Amino acid sequence: MTQETGGFAALGLHANILSALTAVGYEEPSPIQYQAIPVILSGQDMIGQAQTGTGKTAAFALPILSKIDPAKREPQALILAPTRELALQVATAFETYSKQMPGLNVVAVYGGAPMGPQLKAIRQGAQVIVATPGRLVDHLRRDEKVLSTIQYLVLDEADEMLKLGFMDDLEVIFEAMPTSRQSVLFSATLPHSIRAIAEKHLREPQHIKIAAKTQTVSRIEQAHLMIHADQKTNAVLRLLEVEEFDALIAFVRTKQATLDLASALEAKGYKAAALNGDIAQNQRERVIESLKDGRLDIVVATDVAARGIDVPRITHVFNVDMPYDPESYVHRIGRTGRAGRDGRALLLVTPRERRMLQVIERVTGQKVGEVKLPNAQQVLDARIKKLTNGLAPLVGEAEASHGELLDRLTADIGCSPRALAAALLKKVTNGQPLDLATVERDQPLVPGVSGAPRERRERDGERSSEPRERRAPMPLGEGRARCRTALGARDGIAAKNLLGAILNEGGLAREAIGRIQIRESFSLVELPEDGLERLLTKLKDTRVAGKPLKLRRYRED
Ligand code: AMP
Repeated sequence: MTQETGGFAALGLHANILSALTAVGYEEPSPIQYQAIPVILSGQDMIGQAQTGTGKTAAFALPILSKIDPAKREPQALILAPTRELALQVATAFETYSKQMPGLNVVAVYGGAPMGPQLKAIRQGAQVIVATPGRLVDHLRRDEKVLSTIQYLVLDEADEMLKLGFMDDLEVIFEAMPTSRQSVLFSATLPHSIRAIAEKHLREPQHIKIAAKTQTVSRIEQAHLMIHADQKTNAVLRLLEVEEFDALIAFVRTKQATLDLASALEAKGYKAAALNGDIAQNQRERVIESLKDGRLDIVVATDVAARGIDVPRITHVFNVDMPYDPESYVHRIGRTGRAGRDGRALLLVTPRERRMLQVIERVTGQKVGEVKLPNAQQVLDARIKKLTNGLAPLVGEAEASHGELLDRLTADIGCSPRALAAALLKKVTNGQPLDLATVERDQPLVPGVSGAPRERRERDGERSSEPRERRAPMPLGEGRARCRTALGARDGIAAKNLLGAILNEGGLAREAIGRIQIRESFSLVELPEDGLERLLTKLKDTRVAGKPLKLRRYRED
């Protein structure tokens, strides 16, 4: 057993599930997972009060997958979700966690897509159906036996389903399933209508809730930034430029994320290291010592790995990934503000996590104000300020110690003191851009997501929320063409994979590649208009993450 799945193994999950968890890098169950997994494994009905971000999907997916028999080719589990977007996310989670279960198939059933292939997948024996209620009822109208073999039912975000008017559909679905099934209901809130459903359709459910105690975090200045998940690294890099920090801990959720972010920071010249459950105890102690004595300034850690860190130099905590619950938020930000000093905590919030932010505010009894992503001008000002602060204290003393040398160098080179000072500045700033145009080009603007919520729910046929796919592409940079590949987040693609492949195989310079936008089932890359056809031919056989890249020019209209 590896260290990282230790907590999961003790819960009694199937060995195949544990090895899939090792692959995704989860180190420890979240609180809702600790509580829900044993109950669901035991076969009891359950009501779980938890919202997005607590790890609730895995809390039901892992035990259900542990119980499913992949050799039986018939629907065994039904997960109902209020929106198409959530249904797809849950289906993807089931696929991830069942990677080591040969023969296990998942089908997502939602409106707006043809019914034929969905029904075919069900008839061919997909063991897990993840569906929005409206479309599932359409299937039941065609074939009332579709759900006759279901043994496990999950209602995910039940309160949202009722808000969207799915009550009648739910009744039809309940009637179409065997009464011997196990039923689990997850909901952020438990209004009367949800309790009534539980009363009628669940059998002596066990009630699980993550207790929220009020916590105090008075000496810590807190703020949040709204951002899309695929832009977090970029955002962290910008924030680091303008925040005046001494030492900093960045919290992420997985082992892989600690490695990815730490190497992105190192690449930008920060003294950063990753800390996760895979790192041996003595190495972990070395990392913490280095953070204490200034050999390191940034540690990127998972919650488990950061436990007990007490380093007075830590002025900042970045919550790059949302914590599972307010308690772990309070625990995380308590890494700063040590020894009576003031600390600062920043929380990155994706649109789906707004609710968790509200819960944190309620539990801590404090408003977590919003900050905007620094723009290029602010980044530039911060760089110049750092330079000024570094040089100002040296000026008086250096003239005495180095004045003569300066005279000699200007004479030897035959230049003015201004020209020499400029050369020295160029050297000390080590090529770091200090003019607005270059800073802007260097750090493509990542627009925040403040303002209108992107997850606007539409009351169309399937009442879906706006999918990631439909987000408008950002405006195109000058002299650039936008290209598209059918590889996206669901293929495990990140911007750095595309960047690496195009740089290596296309023989381009880094500056030649503009913005990269990763969507669920495709990605967009900005490339130079000049010589584009030649470049695309060059990349014709390129593969990324084992799949053909097939980059094509993309036209928006
Ligand atoms: P959910 O609350 O189900 O929307 O999950 C929120 C996020 O937490 C998802 O991105 C999961 O992949 C991630 N996650 C869930 N459980 C764990 C865990 N035990 N360790 C690390 N990440 C997790």
